[in-house]
Amino acid sequence: MPNEALATISDQYDLWIDGTERPAGTGDRLAVVDPATEDPLTEVAMGAADDVDDAVETARDAFEPWHRRPPKERTRVLTAIAAAIRDESDRLARIETLENGKPLAEAAEQVERAARHFEYYAGVADKIQGESIPLGEEYVDYTIREPLGVTAHIVPWNVPIYLFARSVAPALAAGNAAVVKPAEETPLGALELARLATEAGLPEGLLNVVPGYGHEAGAAITDHPEVDGLTFTGSGPTGTAVAKSAIENVTETHLELGGKSPNVVFPDTDWEAALDGTMTAIFTNAGQVCSAGSRLLVHEEIHEEFVADLLERVAALDVGPGIDDADMGPLVSESHLEKVQKYIEIGRAEVGEPATGGSVLERDGYFVEPTVFDEVPMDTRIAQEEIFGPVLTVTPFADEDEAIELANATDYGLVAGVYTENVGRAHRFAREVDAGQIYVNEFFAGGNETPFGGYKASGIGRENGVQAIDNYTQVKNVCANIGRR
Ligand code: NAD
Repeated sequence: MPNEALATISDQYDLWIDGTERPAGTGDRLAVVDPATEDPLTEVAMGAADDVDDAVETARDAFEPWHRRPPKERTRVLTAIAAAIRDESDRLARIETLENGKPLAEAAEQVERAARHFEYYAGVADKIQGESIPLGEEYVDYTIREPLGVTAHIVPWNVPIYLFARSVAPALAAGNAAVVKPAEETPLGALELARLATEAGLPEGLLNVVPGYGHEAGAAITDHPEVDGLTFTGSGPTGTAVAKSAIENVTETHLELGGKSPNVVFPDTDWEAALDGTMTAIFTNAGQVCSAGSRLLVHEEIHEEFVADLLERVAALDVGPGIDDADMGPLVSESHLEKVQKYIEIGRAEVGEPATGGSVLERDGYFVEPTVFDEVPMDTRIAQEEIFGPVLTVTPFADEDEAIELANATDYGLVAGVYTENVGRAHRFAREVDAGQIYVNEFFAGGNETPFGGYKASGIGRENGVQAIDNYTQVKNVCANIGRR
């Protein structure tokens, strides 16, 4: 069983508080399991409320000197963290693949995105500027953007290293101190990044990681009166519960939640680009992507031919362990596999047999076939609910108006893709569709620099880009009467 990759993982991991490792107060540990083999990889300390208290207190102490230092010092430290991530990128990518299951090439991309994120916010850290507001000659008025203080970050399992970086990098850049709770299934990447950041020169106590169960460590963070800002990335039901609890302490809360995003193909499209985009949209990370294009809407004129070509591509997908760099890896856990299987059964009951896929692979690991349901009415559960697996619904439409209506016909509004060579149509679509990001002729177009977040039930707030700094700062207005002599 041990292979080269396993040598990249320590025998056991502890919490990371105040720049060092320590066991959980309860002594509890949980096995981290390789979803491609079902074998345990290592054991991780599981923190609870007392550990969260320690982490928050440590962060509070570290916050004071950090936010008073010249911003250019934050720029230097974040730059060093980006370099440290790049130096260990192969190892980090293997860790992401082993604990999450995604193909190695995808993991490598996400690790590079994490490094780029620290690099990007290193550049932003010394440009967080206020405004001067004209009130007439008797006053001088200006604003200052100040950090919140201690920010907490609750992270899901689907892209653990990048999603850690996505909210921690802007929080640190803005002068905050952070406490992170990674998902139970995938705590290793967060612990590795916290160690790397400390080694790269981040002052101790500024970045603390408390792995633990959502209902224990997660709830303790959410309820904590000393947490000043909370970024929750995860499912809608947990996110709304978390927000209700955080509001009790008037904690500034941002929610990055799920999606059921449309990918719309018109006849006047670059055929190959649309097929590539449709495949990437739903089968990246085995569909475990918040912004997955899980609803393909295709014009009725090309519906039959497009689906036929799509099914050929799906048949050619190599499904296997991510560490062998298959095209598609396993789902993250047994319970998640059961959830996806349940949705496939719901789909069978609602619309009949899938056009392809629908079965669990008979091998170790949590593998499910890439699955496509065709001719799916929009009022079915498989078209409305986030499945978070490699399950695509296909729905034909007659014209642009109907495409827009169908695109908007769920509670979610995270992203939307459109494939057309008609510039006017692309921009009408962008204007009319309720989603935080619109992709024209390339699904997932954009990146670290472009604001990302949900309309409707997909969330509150924006990550990425300079906009993310709004999540991690508060505005102070200073108004001085200078009229009296
Ligand atoms: P989840 O809501 O079950 O868990 C997310 C995190 O919340 C985990 O760390 C978990 O331990 C923690 N948690 C669970 N219960 C908690 C509680 N009571 N209090 C505090 N924390 C608690 O979500 P998941 O299944 O891990 O992740 C998948 C979901 O995340 C999908 O819906 C996906 O769309 C969403 N997601 C959204 C984005 C985005 O940027 N919008 C990105 C990635 C994933």
